[in-house]
Amino acid sequence: MKKYLFSFMMLAIFEAVAITLWLTKGNIFYLFNFSYIGICIFAGSILMVSGNKYARRFVQLAVGSYMLIYLGVISRENMQIEGFWYYLFTGTFEAATIHYAVAKIFGPLIFGRGWCGYACWTAMVLDFLPYKHPVSPRKRIGWVRYVTFSASLVFVAVLFLLKAGHMERIMFWAFLIGNAAYYLVGIGLALIWKDNRAFCKYICPVTIFLKPMSYFSLVRVHCDESKCIGCRKCLKVCPMDVEVNKESRKRVNGTDCILCYECVKSCPVKALH
Ligand code: SF4
Ligand code: SF4
Ligand code: SF4
Repeated sequence: MKKYLFSFMMLAIFEAVAITLWLTKGNIFYLFNFSYIGICIFAGSILMVSGNKYARRFVQLAVGSYMLIYLGVISRENMQIEGFWYYLFTGTFEAATIHYAVAKIFGPLIFGRGWCGYACWTAMVLDFLPYKHPVSPRKRIGWVRYVTFSASLVFVAVLFLLKAGHMERIMFWAFLIGNAAYYLVGIGLALIWKDNRAFCKYICPVTIFLKPMSYFSLVRVHCDESKCIGCRKCLKVCPMDVEVNKESRKRVNGTDCILCYECVKSCPVKALH
């Protein structure tokens, strides 16, 4: 039973969020929404513990496509970063602000960048590309994420300053155009640099929230350095260039870990867990 503890913990967290929001907001949508996501994560983590190699992809596709197609396109909720600024500026604790609070700001204190490994609809597509393990060294252009982050904030601030009309419609189109741009840039960079996760490493504005919060994550990959034989297999399979053969939270690119557990599977002496 102990090996399923994480699965039950995640289900309990999402059910607690689902019931709390349902009762405090008086909207049963929250019960269905967070229960669905919690059940997907629960099922995926059970599959993962059972050794199913498609477990992570199952969760990623089940949650990512639900959020992109149902919430984004059909329900017209802008769950991207500009949607977060928009709802924040209007003082509304709904849709994108709740999503950011749970998945990207406070949730990472518990499950790190689980969002990036198991739910993001951008990475859901990027992970189909052939370059699962980067072949070239990391580029020194991480600063670009601050530009995209600032641009999203300025874009929404200008709309408010200009008192633009039809804000909901603008946000919907910003969601569609923004996503198309993310996919275009993400796929382009992955193909040019032979690295599926190049977009995540250098461009994604959400990492401004994700990285500092996941530094303190409860869930993380541990390394028993006394068992390590220095074969570096874990480093070769890591899609995010994490120095996972070190235990310290200060390991290189430690806050980029997406909890995919490819390193754990690759370690011949079970030094990682
Ligand atoms: S870094 Fe950004 S694009 Fe990449 S998985 Fe995380 S949220 Fe998605
Ligand atoms: S391979 Fe290991 S260190 Fe790298 S992202 Fe996946 S879980 Fe994290
Ligand atoms: S795969 Fe295991 S033994 Fe090899 S370097 Fe990584 S932690 Fe050490």
